[in-house]
Amino acid sequence: MTRDDETPLTEGLPGGVVRQAVVLAPCDPAGQVPALELVAGATVLEHVIGELARHGIDDVRLVWDAPAPPGAAAWDGATVRGAPVVNLSAESGTPALATVAAAAAAGALDPVFLLVRGDMVFPVNVLDVARRVDHDGAPAVAACHPDGHWGGVAAVRAETAARLAGTDPLEALERASGLLALNYDRPWADFTEPARRDQAEMELPRLLRRPAAFLDRDGVLNVDVAYAHRPDHITWQPGAAAAVKTLNDAGYWVFVVTNQSGIARGYYDAAAMHHLHAWMQNQLRMRAAHVDAFYHCPHHPEGTVPGLDVACACRKPAPGLIQQACGDWAVADTGSFVVGDRDGDMDLARAAGLPGYWYAGGDLEDLIRRILAGRAERNV
Ligand SMILES: [Mg+2]
Repeated sequence: MTRDDETPLTEGLPGGVVRQAVVLAPCDPAGQVPALELVAGATVLEHVIGELARHGIDDVRLVWDAPAPPGAAAWDGATVRGAPVVNLSAESGTPALATVAAAAAAGALDPVFLLVRGDMVFPVNVLDVARRVDHDGAPAVAACHPDGHWGGVAAVRAETAARLAGTDPLEALERASGLLALNYDRPWADFTEPARRDQAEMELPRLLRRPAAFLDRDGVLNVDVAYAHRPDHITWQPGAAAAVKTLNDAGYWVFVVTNQSGIARGYYDAAAMHHLHAWMQNQLRMRAAHVDAFYHCPHHPEGTVPGLDVACACRKPAPGLIQQACGDWAVADTGSFVVGDRDGDMDLARAAGLPGYWYAGGDLEDLIRRILAGRAERNV
């Protein structure tokens, strides 16, 4: 990753990546908490936190309006898509933004964190929003819809958050900082006002169902060196992180589907592979990109590890890994595709009934942009 546009985040974010979100769960004018409304099989709040979790946010602090609604305590210690959730709310009577300001002033929050409304789902690339705080030197960045409305996601420096006051988060951010507004042309679901709720209920299931990019790992994201299983085995292909970010920005799921017969052969174990994938994910996240999930096949009929020396339904070109991903995530029927560098990947695309694109080296982002624009030649 040597290209200028893949500059990593700098020291303003702890560890180089944003990990924390403060999620507001306010009451509406009728005294209800819209974040707790059930839509598409879960509360709006769970959908909001799920969006954060898939970007790698693993520290979620909930702030309820005072007094907190019945059931608020049950959220303390919960996890949503692997992200641990705790209640940040002070004792009863403290306004929500005052709670955030006090926590920031006390050093209880990260130097840069996401401030998110729990009653709006705006599926933007939150790592991109956070990156702009550092990159552009802004005290706070708000992700806005092109019509000018705030989508309920902002990245905030703790010193800015310490000055928050009032009841409206966006107004408070504007007063406290030289707020930078960035437009993201993404659909959204706004549950904040009773008048908008019917529309939001129809919109939410649609925006949670997305097309997926199924990317091979070795030979597509990184140079194929045979049985890569440590970070020092990884040389990224040119434009790899930018390619993943392009997919994230465009609202695609990004799944890695990879045969790892090295596990069946006893060359390395699953723990080493998971460690490598976490390292790869962190490298991507430092460039405002992320993979939603890695799917691997650990089997091979000629393996030496008992139990893994089998013919299976997940080793590519069998479509098992894609089927697993489609069971775990809401994948749209149209728009999904496979990118690979071997015949087996094209056979996988055929088996899954998806378009397949051959990556023969060169700039991976360029190929992805051509695929999204409908200008790439399909191999399957
Ligand atoms: Mg490959």
